Amino acid sequence: MLFQPELETQAPEERAERGAERLRSLVERLARSDSPYWREKLAGVEVGAIRSLGDLSSLPFSAKAELRDTYPFGSLAVPLAQTVRIHASSGTRGKPTIVAYTARDVEIFAEVNARAIGCAGGTPADVLHVAYGYGLFTGGLGLHYGGERLGATVVPASGGNVQLQLELLADLGASGICCTPSFALLLGERAAESGLRERIALRYGVLGAEPWSEGLREKIQEAWGGGFAACDIYGLSEVMGPGVAMECREGRGALHVFDDHFLPEIVDVESGEPLAAGETGELVLTTLTKEAFPVLRYRTGDVTRFVEGPCPCGRTHRRIARFSGRVDDMLVIRGVNVFPSAIEAALLDDPALGGQYAIVVDRRGTLPELEVHAELQPGADRELVERRLRERLAARLRVRVDVVLGEAGSLPRQELGKAKRVFERTGERDEFQQLLRSP
Ligand SMILES: [Zn+2]
Repeated sequence: MLFQPELETQAPEERAERGAERLRSLVERLARSDSPYWREKLAGVEVGAIRSLGDLSSLPFSAKAELRDTYPFGSLAVPLAQTVRIHASSGTRGKPTIVAYTARDVEIFAEVNARAIGCAGGTPADVLHVAYGYGLFTGGLGLHYGGERLGATVVPASGGNVQLQLELLADLGASGICCTPSFALLLGERAAESGLRERIALRYGVLGAEPWSEGLREKIQEAWGGGFAACDIYGLSEVMGPGVAMECREGRGALHVFDDHFLPEIVDVESGEPLAAGETGELVLTTLTKEAFPVLRYRTGDVTRFVEGPCPCGRTHRRIARFSGRVDDMLVIRGVNVFPSAIEAALLDDPALGGQYAIVVDRRGTLPELEVHAELQPGADRELVERRLRERLAARLRVRVDVVLGEAGSLPRQELGKAKRVFERTGERDEFQQLLRSP
């Protein structure tokens, strides 16, 4: 369902024109703001030179470290008295990043999440079960306000207590669930075990806050049965929270970026230059409408590419592919950027291969070589599968890859979720051989 049909199906040129106006007034406002952070950031920028969205690339990037360094309110662009809410991103080390919202920011936060729930198939008549954590984390309140804005009946279940959650899903008749993909699977499995599965009629899931594969999507959809659509929601607290981009149920595999509020660019990880359509790089986001805590050209660290062409759902928001990893995971092989997740995807696409794999970066020569180990399913034609995989990897990664196929069960099993997939091999040390030899 389209929550804001006129905005969601707006002609892209019209949206771009409006976006350029918004960008100009944002930069104008920030350059005049009291914040030393913004005055310094925009020091050499000539505001009058921003005429179209194409001029965006003349603006400086911003990065997570800057936001951390200005903890807590250094990049706040309005007086604190004008804000109505604080959230924080989970700091992996040290202090979290604090983000603040004005009343208007909270309104837009709710609107984009209402759109996102609509993308998954949500309607105002639904009971919507929100099992994201409530609190400083943006997930719970973000989808909660989104659900209310849509007109749904929101159940603020938050995390934990699986049995109670299942009973609520059954008794209150929820049609939609918002939670992490791993929690959606856990609930689905427990629902089957506890016998409550038949009494639960979920149609869709708004699933995010952690990376998840197509394989996991299949498992979740299987656990919840035929009509259930597991859709990917994307966001980050530095930009807003959930609702920056959303996969629609008609066009699964790519996410609509709500680009009237969040302007996406995809840039080369090293040079920062914008990439041509279809090329994979780092997603960079600019908030066009945020008041309290805007970001300019924020380096998300998330890796994706633009997906061109119309979406069957009718929305005209630009689409990005589901994420193929983090910039931090990137390998550089003979000058080419390689993402381990792209190798994983190629392997999972071949039914003749099992799910286990290992990637070895062989650094013994002058230039690093890439070696992929996988397991052949019983009965498959080794030579054929090997050639097929080598060709597929070469085409997708644009770098030559050696393929080594073992029997099913030949690769070491590691604890799920923490599996190490990339191993270094140097003259002194071979991590993969060490793993094979370890008990
Ligand atoms: Zn769509």
